[in-house]
Amino acid sequence: MLLSRSVTLLAPSGPVGDDAPMSASSEAQITAWLATQQDAMVALLREIVDIDSGSYNKPGIDAVGEAVRRFLASNGIPVETICQPKHGDCLRATVAPGGEAGTGGQSNIGGNVVLMGHRDTVFPDGEVARRPFTVRDGLAHGPGVADMKAGLVMNCFVLAAFAKFGGAPTPLIGLFTGDEEIGSPEGRAVIEAEARRARAVFNSEPGRVSGNVVTGRKGGVFMRMRITGKAAHSGGSFTEGISAIEELARKVQAIHALTELSRGITLNVGLVRGGQSVNTVAPWAEGEIDLRYVDPADRDDAVARIGRIVEQSFIPGTRAELTINGEFLPMTQSGPAKKLFELYVTAASDSGFATAGEFTGGCADSGFTAGIGAPTVCAVGPIGGKAHTPDEFLRLDSLVPRAQACARAILRLPAAGL
Ligand SMILES: [Zn+2]
Repeated sequence: MLLSRSVTLLAPSGPVGDDAPMSASSEAQITAWLATQQDAMVALLREIVDIDSGSYNKPGIDAVGEAVRRFLASNGIPVETICQPKHGDCLRATVAPGGEAGTGGQSNIGGNVVLMGHRDTVFPDGEVARRPFTVRDGLAHGPGVADMKAGLVMNCFVLAAFAKFGGAPTPLIGLFTGDEEIGSPEGRAVIEAEARRARAVFNSEPGRVSGNVVTGRKGGVFMRMRITGKAAHSGGSFTEGISAIEELARKVQAIHALTELSRGITLNVGLVRGGQSVNTVAPWAEGEIDLRYVDPADRDDAVARIGRIVEQSFIPGTRAELTINGEFLPMTQSGPAKKLFELYVTAASDSGFATAGEFTGGCADSGFTAGIGAPTVCAVGPIGGKAHTPDEFLRLDSLVPRAQACARAILRLPAAGL
């Protein structure tokens, strides 16, 4: 299908060059140190996978945050907490440039480099007790092991590596948010503020099984339509009733008909509920709508068309209202983002693996940073698959190389003019 096209692999453009001896030596030190950290990475991964942290479990998400904070503190990295009333707090770790880890990163020369990740998972409380972190045949399992606790671990170790070996070339920020799986209702503002100060954003969603990263994502709008009809006994006074369920059925058909696959616009009513009893004409019904689109220009028109369908009464006497419950922006690839991606491809190749860019219909926080205009590359985290299912897995042998590729890309940003 058109929407899952791949960008072909770019040829590596060679080493950094003799004009960057500082970077080259740090690069050797940092990547060599990362190569020794596999066991420590797995230990931290085990610790945070074994904490239930579904999107509505604030104490659990904050407990994962505490584990992250402890690790970073033990590496001399300060962490600021941006409190969130309902969902997980946001944590913001700073590695300052020029060898003084932890002096605040205020200099802001040319903007920050941001390593981003979310601590919430899609799994309910009790999932850890049912299937805790395990390792079999080089694959790790457990709730959120790939999406995206391994990405958090990778970000922690990249931050630690820079703190250990003299700081990053530019201020390096680790942003750990807590509500991505439900559309980042609270995290979005923090992410967008960070993106405005960013020269580059690496989002550590899981790398694809192919090793690919993600260079484009659809936008998504999650809506609910609530329909009111009129109850009546379906045997004794059928003609007095107004069926909200029939109205819902008509609306679902009209909304689904807005799908235009050739333009990447899809509509899915994925949840419906309603009615009172089998022998009552349904007094109410509701449906949850998922709109996906590629071109940012299509968003408002699609939402307006859905709005008109919801307003229209197919069954006279029904009323309906539409609410938007969550939203992700599409991730598009700007010129600088393409440059960042190409830089990452070379960094990956020098770290021992091939990667290419992929488009996906799935949404993520990278849409918000790209929407602000910050060059962004997504799914740079360790490689895994079957996210959001009990079969989720993580390739443990990808922890070190993905961390090395990320570190190399960060070190080479200035030379690439990013
Ligand atoms: Zn994720």
